[in-house]
Amino acid sequence: MKLTFWYVLILGVILLVFIFILYESFKAFSYRDIDQALRTIASSIREGISVVDERIVTPEFERPSPLNDVFVLLFNPRGELLTETPLPYDARGVTLALRGKDSYANFENGGREFRAYTLPVHDEEHRLGAIQVLTTLSALRKALANLLFLLLALTPMFLAVAAIGGLNLARRALAPIGEIVKAVRLIKTESLDRRLPSISTDAEIEDLVRTLNGMLEEIEKGFLREKRLTQDISHELRTPLTIIKGSVSLALRKSRSPEEYVATLQEVEREVDHMIRMVNELLFLAREDDLTQQKHFKPVLLNALLEEVCLELLPLATQHHLLLCVNLPEDRLVVLGNSSSLERLFYNLLENAIKYTPSGGKIEVTAERNGHQAVIRVKDTGIGIPREDLPHIFERFFRGDRSRQRGGFGLGLSIALAVAKSHGGDIRVEDSTPQGSTFLVTLPLLGEK
Ligand code: ADP
Repeated sequence: MKLTFWYVLILGVILLVFIFILYESFKAFSYRDIDQALRTIASSIREGISVVDERIVTPEFERPSPLNDVFVLLFNPRGELLTETPLPYDARGVTLALRGKDSYANFENGGREFRAYTLPVHDEEHRLGAIQVLTTLSALRKALANLLFLLLALTPMFLAVAAIGGLNLARRALAPIGEIVKAVRLIKTESLDRRLPSISTDAEIEDLVRTLNGMLEEIEKGFLREKRLTQDISHELRTPLTIIKGSVSLALRKSRSPEEYVATLQEVEREVDHMIRMVNELLFLAREDDLTQQKHFKPVLLNALLEEVCLELLPLATQHHLLLCVNLPEDRLVVLGNSSSLERLFYNLLENAIKYTPSGGKIEVTAERNGHQAVIRVKDTGIGIPREDLPHIFERFFRGDRSRQRGGFGLGLSIALAVAKSHGGDIRVEDSTPQGSTFLVTLPLLGEK
C-alpha cells in the first residue's frame, strides 16, 4: 500500500514535469512558427513596395484573408497609418521601425491578444515608412488551453490506472512473501524438520525459500546437537551419581566402623572429582565454541608451546614405557591464538597417544611450515582407530569400545577440534592402522594469508 502510494506520487510528479515541459515547448514552437510566418509576409510585402514622388505606392499584394487572422498595416515616415481599415496596432514597434529597427511584440486590444512584427521600409537615402503584420493569438491561446486541459484531465485517470496496476503488481509480487510467513509460522520447535514448500518460480523468492530452508536446517542441526548433548551429559552424570547414592545408602543402612565411612567418603570423593573434571571440560568446550574470545588472541610461538606440552607429558610417557620424540623446525612458527587453549589441544592429542599406545611404543611430534600454515603431526604406534569409529571420534562423548575402560569422557578430541576451529585451523586423522595413528593439525600462521 505504502509502496503504491510512493509509486503513484513519484509518477504524478514526473507526469506534471512532463506536462510542463510539453506545454512550454509547444508554446515556444508555435511562437517561432508564427514569428516566421509574420516575417515572411512582411518581407514579401516590402519587396513589392515602390516609391513614386517620394510617396509609398502600395503594391498589388495579395492581402491575406482576414480568415487567417493576419492583417497588414502600412505607415508613412511620420508614423501615420495609411491603411483605411481601422485596426489596433503596436505603436512602439512603429516608432522602432522608423528608427530603422524591426521588432516583435505582443499587445492586447479589446480583450483580444495580438502578435505584431514591424519592419522598416526605406530606399538608399530615404526612410519611407513601416510595415506591420499582425495576427491574433486567440487560436493559439485556445489550442494551448485545450492542450493543457486535456493533459491535466488525463493525469488523474492515468494515475488511477497506475495506482490500480501498481497495487495489483505489488499484491502479486508480495503474495509469495505472505505464503512464506504463513508457512514459517507453522514451524515450531517440535516441527523443526519441516521445510518451506517451493512457492514461486521467481528467482528471488526461490532464493529466499532456499536461504530460509538452509537456515532451518542449521537451526534443526543445532537444536538436535544441543538436545543430544543434554542427554549425553545427563547420562554421563547419572553413573557417578548412582554410585554415590549407592555407596551412601549402603553406608547409612547400619552403623559402620570409621574405616568403612572413610572408604565410602573416598569413593564419593572420587566420583565427585570425576564429575567436576567432566563439567570443567564441558565449560571449556562451551568457551571454545564462543568465537568472541578471538578478540583476546595474542601471537603464540608454537615451537615453545609444543616443547612445553611434551615436557609436561614426558613423565606420563616414561611411566608407560613410551618414547616421546619432538621434531621442531628451525624457523619460528607463530600463530594468533590463546596459548592455554592451544596447549590443551596438543595435550589432549598426546594424552590420547599415550593412552592408546601399548608400552614399548613410540610417540612422535613433528611440526613444519607448509605455505601459510603450520602443520603439526602427532604420531603413535598405538592400537589404531577402527574404521567404523573414524567418522565419530571428534563427536562429543564418543568413546571407542576399546577405550571405555581407560577412563576418558570422550570429550578430548571434541575439545581439540573446537580449539583448532576457533583458531581457523583443523584436525584430521591422517592415518590409522592397528600399528598406529597419526593426527594432523593445521593452524594458520600469523601475518600470512
Ligand atoms: P577419550 O576421552 O575417550 O580419549 P577422545 O575424544 O579423546 O575421548 O577420543 C575419542 C575416541 O577416539 C577414543 O575413545 C578412542 O577410541 C579414539 N582415539 C583417540 N585418539 C586415539 C589414538 N591416538 N589411538 C587410538 N584411538 C584413539
